Amino acid sequence: MKAALLLVDLQYDFLNRPGLTPPAAALIGEVSRLLEACRSGGIPVIHAHSVYSTDGSDRMPHWKRDDYRACVEGTHGAATPPELAPVSGENIIVKKFFSAFSNPELKTVLDQHAVDTLIVAGVYSHACVRSAVLDAYQNDLTVWVADEAVGGIDSLMSDTSRSFIEGRAASYLSTGEILRRLGIVTVPTEDRDRGEQLPVAYIRGQWIEAEGRQHYLHLDPCDCETVLSNIAIGTQEDAEDAANCARDGASIMAAMPETERAGILERCGRELERRREELVRLICRETGKALTDAKEEFDRSLSFVQVARRLLEEDVAGDIHIDTHARVRRRPVGVIAVLSPWNNPLALPLGKIAPALACGNSLVWKPALEASRTAMAVIECLESAGVPAGAVNLVFGNAATAHKLITRDAVAAVTLTGSINTGRLVAVECGNRLIPLQAELGGNNAALVMPSCDLDVSARHLAELAFSFSGQRCTALRRIIVEDSIAEAFTAVFSAAIKALPIGLPGEPDTRITPLISPRHRQRVAATVEAALREGAKLISGGRIPPSYDKGCWYEPTVLQVDNRHTHLFQNETFGPVAVLHTVPDFEEAIQACNAVSQGLLAALYSEDTAQQTEFLNRAEAGMLRINPDSGAIHPEAPFGGWKASGYGTPEHGIWDLNFYTRPQTIYD
Ligand code: NAD
Repeated sequence: MKAALLLVDLQYDFLNRPGLTPPAAALIGEVSRLLEACRSGGIPVIHAHSVYSTDGSDRMPHWKRDDYRACVEGTHGAATPPELAPVSGENIIVKKFFSAFSNPELKTVLDQHAVDTLIVAGVYSHACVRSAVLDAYQNDLTVWVADEAVGGIDSLMSDTSRSFIEGRAASYLSTGEILRRLGIVTVPTEDRDRGEQLPVAYIRGQWIEAEGRQHYLHLDPCDCETVLSNIAIGTQEDAEDAANCARDGASIMAAMPETERAGILERCGRELERRREELVRLICRETGKALTDAKEEFDRSLSFVQVARRLLEEDVAGDIHIDTHARVRRRPVGVIAVLSPWNNPLALPLGKIAPALACGNSLVWKPALEASRTAMAVIECLESAGVPAGAVNLVFGNAATAHKLITRDAVAAVTLTGSINTGRLVAVECGNRLIPLQAELGGNNAALVMPSCDLDVSARHLAELAFSFSGQRCTALRRIIVEDSIAEAFTAVFSAAIKALPIGLPGEPDTRITPLISPRHRQRVAATVEAALREGAKLISGGRIPPSYDKGCWYEPTVLQVDNRHTHLFQNETFGPVAVLHTVPDFEEAIQACNAVSQGLLAALYSEDTAQQTEFLNRAEAGMLRINPDSGAIHPEAPFGGWKASGYGTPEHGIWDLNFYTRPQTIYD
């Protein structure tokens, strides 16, 4: 094999476009990791740059039409960041259109090096990367897209491009996998043999060993070094096998008497209880969640199982008689695909799995890679509770694995908890297949702080609700909207309350500020803060790695004052220890600011004024409202679901689950 690395359009004007995912700083980091390794392995590197003359005469026709200018010769925008700059001996291919192959020089360079395999990284996934990949394929090259080192500004188009390219023109590979295939030895974290390898799937009641698949290493958030799990990425065949098996499982579950289903849930609850201590420790270790929060998550998980069991007492399958000749009964849906995030690795999956089984469905679960061991423990509990083989299946993997799963014919409905971006992509697939989707998505929650509240108490509670678990909660209160008249006093007490939150190791009893889930996530959070500062935000506190915690993934609780509601930071969840302070002249403006975002998961009001409380309850646009909250506790039987972009489909939990895990069937007799 003779490989070359092609870097596409890694120039400031493209990297600085709003909405780049991953953010520029993170992407630059990923590309430079790949670039350095390729250089050290003697892989030829080719830089494809778009460069246009100052008079704009050679711009693409649609740029001329729109009077759009970018990457003008000699400007900063046309330059590439220093980390990615070409070094002597590397070719620069200047192009005027999407594909790097539009300049025949590229083909000449590839032929000179006798290249048969092209590794592609850069921006944007749906446009120039896609064009280069398709042209490389057409030129008989094997193409590997560096999955972690490509970025786009439109997630839907990026995802669609990937779906089209993958398996046809190219393979999407992690940097580690690319380097392994190239035989390049890099830093130890790239070594796929580190740590204990987990199976790739649980199908027909058996764990399936992983062979010949890509791997993901989950590092201990506390040191970014110790490999906690080495997880294989499930393939299309794994997803297909699991979904087909679940189809058989669906028949078994649908035919199972309710008393038997209740028995399974009862025993599952007992098994969870028996393993309480171990599960709490596992959550702490895998996700870096503080002990207190992991205990709370355990209790919530158990409640979800108990609540699902009680659904059966309420006679799930009972008929509703409309009149003497028409009745409606609830029937199971069939195979449910369960997609879960890493931040509540026990409660969120059990909040889906338990009602799915109670209602007589089978399922295939694709957990988050970061929480794989907790997922294995959940399967063990279900297995020892007597779940029949085939009723609960699992495939480990990434977004691509999940995508393969939800597009299997056997899957009848999808339940997802994850980011809004993911929700959008999954909704497109479910829409395409016309199958139901229940999606609990990201938040961007506001807390309104009004003069009548007890400032000290509110500040203390808000510090906890914004920053515990380092803000990695969908329900974190991250936009703090404060009336001008108390802004100064509030900022002082809030800053003091944040400083008082103990930072430390997750397993220690008092810790509130824990590490972020991964070095990459910390890099994203840091990049978001840097971008916000460039956008005009003012740093009130934090904004750095805490000096004595630089070994793990900690990031200091950060408060940024943001005046402009249109900025990225105001409009988007950071999912990290970053709060936005926004001041307003009065309560009316506070309500406006609260609702001025596309999300609507949760909103809170700190005010003793009953008229304001009523107004808030009438006008705040969110699925959950809190008045003077002192904790983030949720009730296991209350509907949990976001409004606006924070949720899609029916909400979760309690009797609300019946609307998703069963479907009505009318019988005329
Ligand atoms: P994520 O969206 O990256 O991943 C969630 C799950 O979806 C994972 O299993 C992942 O592999 C899968 N996935 C990712 N991309 C996909 C795609 N294109 N197609 C199909 N599946 C895909 O989220 P995360 O980083 O694990 O978790 C953090 C996010 O989850 C935050 O936005 C947070 O607010 C949100 N969250 C929401 C709730 C809620 O109940 N509203 C609860 C917890 C977390």
